[in-house]
Amino acid sequence: MQYDKNNIFAKILRGEIQCNKVYEDDFCLAFNDLHPTAPIHVLVIPKGQYKSFDDFCLNGSQNEISGFFKGVTGTLEILGLVGDNKDGYRLITNCGVHGDQTVHHFHIHILAGTKLGSIVTHSCVVLHCRLHGDQTVHHFHIHILAGTKAR
Ligand code: AMP
Repeated sequence: MQYDKNNIFAKILRGEIQCNKVYEDDFCLAFNDLHPTAPIHVLVIPKGQYKSFDDFCLNGSQNEISGFFKGVTGTLEILGLVGDNKDGYRLITNCGVHGDQTVHHFHIHILAGTKLGSIVTHSCVVLHCRLHGDQTVHHFHIHILAGTKAR
């Protein structure tokens, strides 16, 4: 599947559709999700045209990749979520049909502001952090969940 230049996040990047911006730099744009599923629900997208996490990580430049993930971390800082004494958060990126991806421009969901419960079983890539993220093993790790359609 080719990158669709008319997906909703491409339109937001071009300024054709408004968003509620949280953070922006040369590599990323972060904005509030239109339909939040947690008290804090922010999306972070790269400026480049990438369909998914794997498309971005396989085809993005080192600058784009490190710049984007620094932007995600900068967004977490702006949201007051960084620090060992903070309650934590969860990062999710959905991919493809089984991941229930609805917008085909790579994005990371930042979810926080309440205890999020145990691992979300309907996402392709999940990262969870500290108490609210229900992190149980405190060595950074990513869950890759696949093999069935999202519920
Ligand atoms: P996904 O299902 O992982 O592809 O996530 C797409 C997300 O984009 C959903 O959580 C939607 O609520 C969100 N969304 C769709 N349109 C907009 C928009 N115009 N502004 C902000 N968030 C949006």
